[in-house]
Amino acid sequence: MTPVIVRTREELAAARSQVEGTLALVPTMGALHEGHLSLMRQARRSAGTVAVSIFVNPLQFGPGEDFDRYPRTFPTDIEACAAEGVDLVFAPSREVMYPDEPQVTVQSGPMGEVVEGAARPGHFDGMLTVVLKLLNLVRPDVAIFGEKDAQQLAMIRRMVADLNVPVRVDGGPTVREPDGLALSSRNRYLSVPERRTGLALSRALRAGADAAAEGPDAVTAAARTVLDKAETADPPLALDYLVLVDPATFAPVAGPGQAVLAVAARVGATHLIDNVHLQLGKEH
Ligand code: AMP
Repeated sequence: MTPVIVRTREELAAARSQVEGTLALVPTMGALHEGHLSLMRQARRSAGTVAVSIFVNPLQFGPGEDFDRYPRTFPTDIEACAAEGVDLVFAPSREVMYPDEPQVTVQSGPMGEVVEGAARPGHFDGMLTVVLKLLNLVRPDVAIFGEKDAQQLAMIRRMVADLNVPVRVDGGPTVREPDGLALSSRNRYLSVPERRTGLALSRALRAGADAAAEGPDAVTAAARTVLDKAETADPPLALDYLVLVDPATFAPVAGPGQAVLAVAARVGATHLIDNVHLQLGKEH
């Protein structure tokens, strides 16, 4: 069944008032792929009604980033939502979300300035601002985000805790291509040779994860070996960062315990990120 599609705050409020029982929201920027669909299935298991938002948020793109060319595939997105049994799609225009230049926005704080935030200044402020607006508009019981964007998920959890936002935040596992490449709306920018080079991200993470028991230095060394090779490939990979951080704070970790190994790189003009959770052992 085709979902109910609402575009304005008034239409959304009317649809929201019809919802009985629990509501789960999956916020997206569209160009939906199997990763998004897996979050919709998780939403279906978590609540009686499933809502998806589709909005390419200008606030979270920096100057020179791909806002203008970001893929917009609304008709096929709606077909995908229908196939997944999504009940409600909120697809606001820029004017609906930002009728005026916003004066008051969410500040992501120090955690928003490290790792991906250091590579993309202002990105997390813009992302948190739109997520808080979507949560206030849709008022879901649970909101579901992908672990693929691990720092985004950690920052949303932190915002919800710090600002007492009445919603449960759940993470969903990263969906990958059979060869390991994490699905991303940006993968469609990649040429065949660029995609081959881009595979180094997931390979490096796997090499790092395989060394987890040997401790942090072994993890980063194993991952770096794979990335070093990709930096001299044709086309080359341009590494932005490879870090081993605490999953909740994104502060560097040096000791044993839970960690996220996160990597970001550019291949051609395409920005790719990926990460893996691991349990670090002691240094031998
Ligand atoms: P985006 O449309 O890229 O803003 O992503 C919308 C949501 O889908 C975010 O919570 C992402 O973390 C999540 N997501 C993106 N790629 C994947 C993937 N490969 N597996 C699982 N979730 C994903």
